[in-house]
Amino acid sequence: MAHPQFLNSPKSFVVDALRGAVATTDDLEWHPEPGYLTRREPLPSGQVALLSGGGSGHEPLHAGFVGRGMLTGACPGLIFSSPNALQVRAATRAVDAGGGVVHIVKNYTGDVLNFRIAGDLAAEDGITVEHILVDDDVASEREDGPGRRGTAATIAVEKVCGASAERGDDLAAVAEFGRRTARNARSMAVALRACTVPGANSPSFDLPDGQIELGIGIHGERGTERVEAMPAAELVRRLTDPVLASLGVQRGDPVIAIVNGLGAAHPLELQLLFGQLADYLADRGVVIRRSLVGSFVTALDMDGASITLVRCDDELLDLWDAPTSAPGWPNAPAGEFRGVPDESGMQFRSKVASREDEADVPGTADALGRAAVGRWIGAFVEKVLAEEPNLTDLDRRAGDGDFGTNMVAALDHVDVSKIRGTYAPATVFESLSDAYLGHAGGTSGALFGVWFRQFFRVAADAPHGLDLKAIAAAARAGLDAIQELGGAQPGDKTMIDAIAPAVAALESAVAAGRSLAGGLAEATDASARGSEATADLTARRGRASYIGEAARGVVDPGALVLSWLFAEAAEAARPVG
Ligand code: ADP
Ligand code: MG
Repeated sequence: MAHPQFLNSPKSFVVDALRGAVATTDDLEWHPEPGYLTRREPLPSGQVALLSGGGSGHEPLHAGFVGRGMLTGACPGLIFSSPNALQVRAATRAVDAGGGVVHIVKNYTGDVLNFRIAGDLAAEDGITVEHILVDDDVASEREDGPGRRGTAATIAVEKVCGASAERGDDLAAVAEFGRRTARNARSMAVALRACTVPGANSPSFDLPDGQIELGIGIHGERGTERVEAMPAAELVRRLTDPVLASLGVQRGDPVIAIVNGLGAAHPLELQLLFGQLADYLADRGVVIRRSLVGSFVTALDMDGASITLVRCDDELLDLWDAPTSAPGWPNAPAGEFRGVPDESGMQFRSKVASREDEADVPGTADALGRAAVGRWIGAFVEKVLAEEPNLTDLDRRAGDGDFGTNMVAALDHVDVSKIRGTYAPATVFESLSDAYLGHAGGTSGALFGVWFRQFFRVAADAPHGLDLKAIAAAARAGLDAIQELGGAQPGDKTMIDAIAPAVAALESAVAAGRSLAGGLAEATDASARGSEATADLTARRGRASYIGEAARGVVDPGALVLSWLFAEAAEAARPVG
């Protein structure tokens, strides 16, 4: 089945998109007759002009790289098909400022022919044109045939030539820098999912689940090799090796390293690939001088990425570093490469309370001492960790799916054996609170952290252990703090629905002079009933509230975890033997 796309009609797709581009870019003008884009700002007389173009669907290439310091104009074709010769001729005339025009052409037969013809026609008009071919894709490297395809290296050529022209170099010099860049650039791409052409019923090729395609191009054409998905580090090696081989890169060679997204890859995934690429090049002794990560040369909505290396020298780097106001170029590109930090230096770190020299809190029949609190919280932590998949599932059905991860992110940082065997009650709760506040995210991290903070405060003032009154006071303070912070009321389908009935049960047990074990058992029942009842509610707080009725029938995971906390307390308080 066709998946929905943003479009009115496949026929008007390119024009409809160009309307938005022109409307949102100051220095970009559309010339409908016969169809090309130029800068609005005229070039200084005598400056070399730069023109590129090609099929649409690769944005921000080329229109996004029209601007001071990069292209003077661009000729868009229809989706994935080259512009025609008359477009290119008219654009060449329009951009020429007397210094001649450089055509930057990706190596596809249609593009090459139309730019060639236009170059000849421009000569009739008295304009000197230099033609630079970009042919970087190593997957299409073979003895016969049309030669390597032009892909992401195009932006490097456009950048270098643009800077050279902008500083006033003459036509021959600009063209020579462009050719030097193209000669020293190679790329290789992988797709996780093919692109779908506007209006098409299906992606350009099918990839079975779990498979990826190496050596794909930027027009939805199939790749050279279909393989099982693999870890990113290995994938980066598979992409980089042929690039290094084709360029003949030696240890110590300086390169510009580009990770390019093909349309649907996420920025985080591209950053991850770059980290792997930097590690791999460091292993091989290849010196990254500049880096660039982002989606610059795309293939519609292809989910995939390419790696480009450009062997460079100081002259090329000067041109790379020169400023440009083309909107598709990052406005703060990285300068001299400083290396990637190793993984251990990147871990989130935050200290969780821990003390080795704990004084014992013996506890009594009416108060939980060190050993009982250790059993209580030790069992609670283990239960929550073991139930992570179920908690995640509940939050996925009724919220956004991060609840289980948040619990684990926090609880992975507490030391269960010290909770069971070493820590005094106050430290147990302090470490739990620190772990939630310092290592979990989301609503639950904050609220659980604050909840356990109240138990820490109460326990710190209870040298003889936690009796029913102390537990009731801590739970009351926790409830008040959570309501004050989160604004939830009973019935909003949150952890409040498990806490409020438990607090009421604890307070009436204290008033009735019930035993510790009896009071906790009543709180447990009340809390479990409150938690179960959340299944019948629709959420009015938290991210579950965004999905309304769809959350009905699903128990609130926060409430469920709180009900376990009371259940484990009752268990730990049961008279032994
Ligand atoms: P989110 O994804 O909403 O940021 P989590 O997934 O970390 O939060 O936690 C969700 C849990 O937090 C819910 O199960 C619910 O019990 C609780 N919760 C959400 N909002 C509130 C609130 N305003 N007050 C009390 N508890 C809340
Ligand atoms: Mg959530």
